[in-house]
Parts: sequence; C-alpha cells; structure tokens
Amino acid sequence: MKEVIEKQIKEFGLPVMTDEKSGALQWLDLRELNLRYIISIENIKPFFEGLKEGKLLTTKCKHCGRIFFPPQRDCPSCRISDMEWVELSREGTLETLTVIFVKPPSFGSYDPYTVAIAKLDDGPRITAWLKGDPRKAKPGMRVRLEISKREKEGYMMYELVPVE
Ligand SMILES: [Zn+2]
Repeated sequence: MKEVIEKQIKEFGLPVMTDEKSGALQWLDLRELNLRYIISIENIKPFFEGLKEGKLLTTKCKHCGRIFFPPQRDCPSCRISDMEWVELSREGTLETLTVIFVKPPSFGSYDPYTVAIAKLDDGPRITAWLKGDPRKAKPGMRVRLEISKREKEGYMMYELVPVE
C-alpha cells in the first residue's frame, strides 16, 4: 500500500487514485488509524462460555463431519447451518512458526512473540501464540493447546505449548 501511495504522489502530486470499478477518484490517507471495534459474538457464544470453564469448544458440521476452528455457523462445503458444538482435540502437530519482532500497536508492550500454526489431531488448523523458546521448536513436533491468561490484558486466551 505504501508503494502505491508513493507512486500516486509522484504522478499526481497528491495521494489520490481512481477506483477501478467505479472510476471514482479516491483519497489514500497516509495516517494510520487507531480503531476500537465492537463485534457481535452471539453466534459463537458457546466458545467464550467454554473458555471460561477451561474448555475449547468449536463447531462441527452435522452433515459432513468437518470440524471448524475458529467456530463458524455455516459449513461452506455443504452450504448449511446445521452445526453442533464439540470439544476440540488438544493435541496436534506443529506446521510452521514465525517470531514477531515488529508488532502491531495493540501488542506493542510485549516482547517478541512466536505465532505458530498447528494441525490438530481432529482436523482443523489453529493459529496461536507458541509458548517457549522458538529456537527449540521445529515443524513436525507435537504441541498441545492450552488455555491461559494473557498477562497484560488479563483475559483468557489459548496458546500452543510444546509437548515434552
Ligand atoms: Zn458440511
């Protein structure tokens, strides 16, 4: 995006561009915005209630049996909303990881942290922070999903923990 803006400024003297679809002139703002948003979680309320009780719940399509994470209300394969709530298997295999040094503003107060993707034994892939030294973590290793409290915000979250 930054490159696009720079190119437009060079060409037009202003950060403006034409929308491909409508042909309307658009202003590309240079400032980053700080947003606070409120989204409804009513459709996936059991997930949050489960977390409070130390359970990781998610949805499973009653028709094809596919398990989704994060939980969702509709199965894209079957195109139906016939889902049931099931407990997620806690163990899986680490697929990939990356250490985040350049953090988004909301995590700015954290030390560099590791984000990993693991494939759980019952199917879904899960993206979560990985606990421990990332230099000791390798794709293919066994990991376990644990519920923890994210210290700085003080709220419940889940994280991947290497299985010793
Ligand atoms: Zn389905």
